[in-house]
Amino acid sequence: MPVKDLAVGVDIGGTNTVFGFVDQKGHILAEGRLKTPQYKDINGFAAALYEKIIVTGRRITCEFRIKGFGIGAPMGNINNGTIEYPAGLPWKGIFPFADIFHRHTSLPVIVTNDANAAAVGEMIFGGAKGMKNSVVITLGTGLGSGFVVDGKLVYGHTGFAGEIGHTQIRPESSNRECGCGKKGCLETYVSATGLKRTLIKILADSMAPSRLRKYSTEELDSKIIFEAAKKGDPLACLAFERTGRMLGYKLADVVAHTNPEAIFLFGGLALAGDILFKPAIESMEENMLVIYKGRVKILASRLNSKNAAVLGASSLVWSNEGI
Ligand SMILES: [Zn+2]
Repeated sequence: MPVKDLAVGVDIGGTNTVFGFVDQKGHILAEGRLKTPQYKDINGFAAALYEKIIVTGRRITCEFRIKGFGIGAPMGNINNGTIEYPAGLPWKGIFPFADIFHRHTSLPVIVTNDANAAAVGEMIFGGAKGMKNSVVITLGTGLGSGFVVDGKLVYGHTGFAGEIGHTQIRPESSNRECGCGKKGCLETYVSATGLKRTLIKILADSMAPSRLRKYSTEELDSKIIFEAAKKGDPLACLAFERTGRMLGYKLADVVAHTNPEAIFLFGGLALAGDILFKPAIESMEENMLVIYKGRVKILASRLNSKNAAVLGASSLVWSNEGI
């Protein structure tokens, strides 16, 4: 049996850090996770992560060789391997994470923004295969985005191109505060937390009955709102309608910037299907310049499974080979 080349994909999230050993076809041979908030110090986190990866690798029954580590993280910067002021992670400031991780290995370590990792993953293993121009929007606690233009992921001058989650929706009419310190950012509306904020506002403004009134603010989450919408709860449906329209309004701008063939929605909220996609497509089409109308597909990510983020991160290793 030949020795198998594998890349380790890591997705550092606010709650969990997930990793997997992935082959070039996108098969995951072993995976593991650790609780990110348990590590108050990033050096301790890197050591524990490396240790856990090595222990997990022992479960792989074939002979293999690790080609490198692809690490996706909020505010990860591919230019210099740093994680900079990551929202939602326990560490504050700028951390040279690739260097910190290199204390444990001499193999390549590539750090990037988690949404960019998803965009590369979609291009290599997902629905954007064969497309030269695509956009991936990740809808989780926040909103991330990655742009592929003319076959290449756009990183920009300082490595942070495409943070559309923190571009604003009609700032003059919105005072919704964002974790980044600004007001009216897209992700305060279009994300799992944004949907919840919209629903709470709708519940407060309306007298209509809703099955969601029995939940406390802490209990409510996007899953509960989705289940209620599926059962026809009018206020839950309205929350999705508003979220979808807000997303579509912004996607019309996105299309004007890079003229993509398709925009992929990735993450928990994207699993809502038509209830989110329909208003998003309608509003995008209404707000787009005529030259783009009917020419952009809005699709669910083909990587929308539990391992998607790991696949995306691992694909960085293959896409950087030979560069
Ligand atoms: Zn913001």
